[in-house]
Amino acid sequence: MSDIILLGPPGAGKGTQARRLVEERGLVQLSTGDMLREARSSGTEMGRRVAEVMDRGNLVTDDIVIGLIEERLAASKAAGFIFDGFPRTLAQADALGALLKRAGRHLDAVIEMRVDDEALVRRITGRFTCGNCGEVYHDLTRPTARPGICDACGSTDLRRRADDNEESLRTRLLEYYKNTAPLIGYYYALGKLRPVDGLDGVDAVAAAIAAILDAPPAAGKGPLDATAETH
Ligand code: ADP
Ligand code: AMP
Repeated sequence: MSDIILLGPPGAGKGTQARRLVEERGLVQLSTGDMLREARSSGTEMGRRVAEVMDRGNLVTDDIVIGLIEERLAASKAAGFIFDGFPRTLAQADALGALLKRAGRHLDAVIEMRVDDEALVRRITGRFTCGNCGEVYHDLTRPTARPGICDACGSTDLRRRADDNEESLRTRLLEYYKNTAPLIGYYYALGKLRPVDGLDGVDAVAAAIAAILDAPPAAGKGPLDATAETH
């Protein structure tokens, strides 16, 4: 059973590509952001605790998100998972490695989606999503065909996220560079890292990811073969 991680800053296009992979390859998307938004709207104690942290743009504690992923892994026998927005810290990456190993699963690739900060601001400030089916739109680059109506499911429940503002985005980017960007080196050392140019259009990025996933397994794992772990 083969899994992949989509790694990149907020607005890199992880959710957009994850939805395509679900549709085209039958993989199962595990987005910790979506799980946390679900938790906060359910009015639970955990939801109340995370809402404030998310709105500020800070990271929720490792134990909460690792617990969410652990639950989902235990509940599904999917042939492949797409981890979207997880892991975001070295502790989360270590925990994921242990969880996958225990479940007899294999991490195929970590797709690093490279997008510069200027484009991220443009993408995040124009983003809106369908509250019913989760389809992702953008005011300028991907508007709905009919104003106010989701192309995918016809719902009129189109939403903007509370944290999709410039101030929160600044904090989210700082969190990314401080806590998440070190995972680029972590997965490079494991021979798993596969960078793509996230500045390309949605179709071109999807094609680049498909080429990575369809490539025959490399004979070696890269420059650090001898030390690369197997999970
Ligand atoms: P992430 O899940 O990484 O935060 P999203 O997939 O939600 O990012 O995308 C953020 C915004 O950028 C959305 O409005 C989406 O429509 C837009 N977007 C995603 N991929 C691209 C792309 N390759 N080119 C231009 N806009 C994109
Ligand atoms: P996202 O939907 O991936 O942009 O995540 C939205 C917010 O949820 C982030 O800014 C964090 O506050 C929180 N979050 C999502 N995933 C994680 C994670 N793996 N670790 C910590 N916080 C997370």
